[in-house]
Amino acid sequence: MALHPELLQILCCPVCKGGLVVLGAEEGLLCSACQLVYPVRDEIPVMLVEEAVPQAKWEAGAREVER
Ligand SMILES: [Zn+2]
Repeated sequence: MALHPELLQILCCPVCKGGLVVLGAEEGLLCSACQLVYPVRDEIPVMLVEEAVPQAKWEAGAREVER
């Protein structure tokens, strides 16, 4: 099942309020301005700065922030 297009339209980066880009098979939502990826877990976008993965780490395979 895909993320709802209308849901994507209302989602924005909690840091800069910018738009988001869907990555890959809807695994994550990228804010290119902040270079942060918000993970999508169980088809629910996690729009929390604390959960966002830096884009470089995401591209290296990380799907969670290191604690
Ligand atoms: Zn942002």
